[in-house]
Amino acid sequence: MTATGIEGPGWVDRSAQPIRGLFPLGVEQFLNAAVAVNAPGVTTVTTAARYYALHGLVAHEARRLNLDGGAARDLLRRTEVIYALACLAHERDPAHDRSMPSPHGADRLKAALALGPVEMDVASGQHAGRYAKAPWGFLGPYRGSEMTLAILASDGFAPGPAFDAAVVARELGPVVALARRAERVSLETVEGLGGACLCRASSSGDGEWLAQRFAGRAQDIGTRGSVLGQTMRMIATAISETDVHDLDDLGDFVMYHPLVLAAARTGEVWRRWRGLRLRAESVEAWRNLWTSMCDVLPEVGAMTPEQLGAALADVLPTQTVRAYRDALPPVVDDTGAPLPAERHGSVEGRDTIDRCLATLMLGAARHRTLPTEGPERLGFEGPPGRSWAVEELSPHWVATVSDQWADRSLRDFAIFLAGVMVNRAHRLTVRKSYLRKPDGRYVMPVRIVLQDGLVVRLFDEEARPPSLRWGPLLSMGRQTGLFSRTDEGRWTAGPRGALLG
Ligand SMILES: [Zn+2]
Repeated sequence: MTATGIEGPGWVDRSAQPIRGLFPLGVEQFLNAAVAVNAPGVTTVTTAARYYALHGLVAHEARRLNLDGGAARDLLRRTEVIYALACLAHERDPAHDRSMPSPHGADRLKAALALGPVEMDVASGQHAGRYAKAPWGFLGPYRGSEMTLAILASDGFAPGPAFDAAVVARELGPVVALARRAERVSLETVEGLGGACLCRASSSGDGEWLAQRFAGRAQDIGTRGSVLGQTMRMIATAISETDVHDLDDLGDFVMYHPLVLAAARTGEVWRRWRGLRLRAESVEAWRNLWTSMCDVLPEVGAMTPEQLGAALADVLPTQTVRAYRDALPPVVDDTGAPLPAERHGSVEGRDTIDRCLATLMLGAARHRTLPTEGPERLGFEGPPGRSWAVEELSPHWVATVSDQWADRSLRDFAIFLAGVMVNRAHRLTVRKSYLRKPDGRYVMPVRIVLQDGLVVRLFDEEARPPSLRWGPLLSMGRQTGLFSRTDEGRWTAGPRGALLG
């Protein structure tokens, strides 16, 4: 196929500014919302466990000292600077565990240290040389999670009911104390604070307290603490019963392992995760299909949606949609238990576009075979009657349109899907675009753009697997000693694994 010779979109005016859009297909909205419910206490940006304890302690000190908002904020910033410096100092110690995350603001503070001791007023200030841009430092990314775990109160900057000042202050107290009075700080100044390093939470007292927070309260059914506790126990069971090296291994356990159904104490959370993880297969398949399609577009040049669809169709077999669908491996056995169809050699061995389409069809088959009620269905597409369950590109939608197309050509079906994706991305761009006040420019988050019937690529696209927040949960568990990892990279129970018993 040839590209039509057009150089980029010819904007009529220069007042529009295309920027790199995120989530161009908008196919992960349900998944993200459901993940937030089922993986409380962490997000994709909460990377370092001991900050939960540190923020609680600063809130406690701010209250004890009766600080107003501005003074509390300054104490938080000064404390985060001292804390990061203490961690950087420990990095020089042979006992430091390099597999643990870096402290926040490390790069800027390292740059400052290259010029000599850190000037606290400058580093913790709000102007040039500051360790963090956001006024409240790194509290922002953690605050919601810290409130969920009741470490912070849900209103104002104050400790929450689960915060234990006595335990946390024992090891992190000296960090706050130094933060209150320090003027110039070198790595030597903070050498004595090595016990506060991020790498020491798996053996520290505040780490034990944090481990209890992340272990949740599995028995308090109906609370977020219970959901967190059940989710962490699901992970603990996966790594004790099977070989888990990565998130894919964990996903396979959750989707296919009989224990997810067999363990009576799990309540509904594990089974909801099964539905969610199965849905993530479809979400990732759409993202990969979209990315593969965008890759077909030349960097400079344009194609019609039909030409683009033909590029997808070219790599697919010449058969009907029904024949293609019927040749896929079964998704359940005779008893209705899930089979690893998505991992079947006949599916995994295909080229990307073919594999994505097969995975989407398997998602449609899951939609047809999951019990109409129950936790798996809830995780897979949400409660019945909600638009999420039937929206465009959902498994329900794929099941419906592939029925309509059953006796027609698979290749024509691919061209149809390409058109749907392009139109959907276009609508989303229009919906997400906004007028930027300062310069009056119209900002458009895009990757490709549809203009006058032609599709033009503005930015590269890269497909990332959807986040179920299992990575942060594993990391928090590992940092606080609930989980551990062998030198070969296999996950195991950690020294505090019994908290998940
Ligand atoms: Zn360390």
